[in-house]
Amino acid sequence: MTTKGDIFVPVDALAKIASSNEVHGKLVLRYVASDEIFVVHGVETSRGVRRQVDIAREYHALRAGNGSYEGRWIESPNGALHVVHAELRRRPGAMMTPADFKELSGVRLDAGMKTLIVVTHDAGVSADLRAGGVETYAGWHLTREGATPASIAIEPATHGLSQLEGRWPLSELSDMNIAVVGCGSIGSVAAEALAGYGVGSLQLIDPDRLQWHNLVRHSLDRGSVGRSKAIALAESLTQRWQRKSYFAHDLDVVRDAGVFRALTSDADLVLCTADGIAPRRVVSHVARRAKIPAIVACVLDGGAIGEVLRLRPTPRFGCLLCVRAHMEEQGAIDAEADQELAYGTGTSHLPMTAVPSDLKFVGVLAAKAAVATLLESRFGDAAQRLPSEHAVIGLRPAGDLSAPFDVNHAADVVWRSIPAPRPECVTCNP
Ligand SMILES: [Zn+2]
Repeated sequence: MTTKGDIFVPVDALAKIASSNEVHGKLVLRYVASDEIFVVHGVETSRGVRRQVDIAREYHALRAGNGSYEGRWIESPNGALHVVHAELRRRPGAMMTPADFKELSGVRLDAGMKTLIVVTHDAGVSADLRAGGVETYAGWHLTREGATPASIAIEPATHGLSQLEGRWPLSELSDMNIAVVGCGSIGSVAAEALAGYGVGSLQLIDPDRLQWHNLVRHSLDRGSVGRSKAIALAESLTQRWQRKSYFAHDLDVVRDAGVFRALTSDADLVLCTADGIAPRRVVSHVARRAKIPAIVACVLDGGAIGEVLRLRPTPRFGCLLCVRAHMEEQGAIDAEADQELAYGTGTSHLPMTAVPSDLKFVGVLAAKAAVATLLESRFGDAAQRLPSEHAVIGLRPAGDLSAPFDVNHAADVVWRSIPAPRPECVTCNP
């Protein structure tokens, strides 16, 4: 039998060990040969009573093992044992004699011809020792020759976003609700990034189904072909982030503008990645009326540049139409007409010219702009202040466009302000 193999201990195994009145007992482990790991699947909680460890279904790899390997758990060994463990780990190949292991663990074990996998727990390891690399849980491979330290992975009581508690404004963001219009290549990545920033509620809006030609640049995989992009994305995010507040809306913001308007009344921000002039105009108009900011993101000029535009409902900044009218006066390319061609992100008829990872770059930047906008405006977080309102991102720039699209370098992000509302604009001056 192998003596390689990290030991993975699910939190339920720890709970079962903690519930025992004994100070040591048997473990049942499975070996996952493809990954060379041992996983604790059973715990003896009292003499002769073995209890199955609960491992959630989504942990495919941890549940994949087979075979039944015997191990032991030992609670509260001599305080020196884990110090020795840390020392042995620094000396590859080093080993503790069986007699020493027996003395320090307090348990007499005979591995026989096999290797016993032993997990020891010493809750008394001081903070100073922990800082020096001594762990409260230690793994061992024990044979008749001696005990060698094994790597051990302990499932913490809480993991996921809560690990960021105290270092990132999680509670503020968990109260935020963002409507994501367009769940395509940029939108699906932006939604994933918003979830990763800890935004509590997402309204995922898209009328389309995932098709084969979308796969190359979409965050969803083959299993979602044929499904509503919004529904499949909501399910994927729910699975990934273990939150039940990602909602799918299989609707078109132009055709179903009334429903969309109702959705935005509860939203704190709208992030729009939809292609086409009409949906982007609807988002700009409806968000302004709802007095919430909108972030509009796209790629232009066949994927040569990206754009993230922040539209804030204040007298200082105009709506999408005001911004575009100003740009037209400046002689810039018509970004909205470019959207209508949809050749940046591709359709089944037109080739996709934007590179998948360039679209992701734009999607994550759009999500960052959305979260930073909320943190700065709602919570006064000065560290989240954006440079300005309009970002142009160099993806594969030819350097042949006029301002504000005149970026010349890949990965360059140039921020500029946007003009005030035009006096005649009906969106900005209701
Ligand atoms: Zn306007």
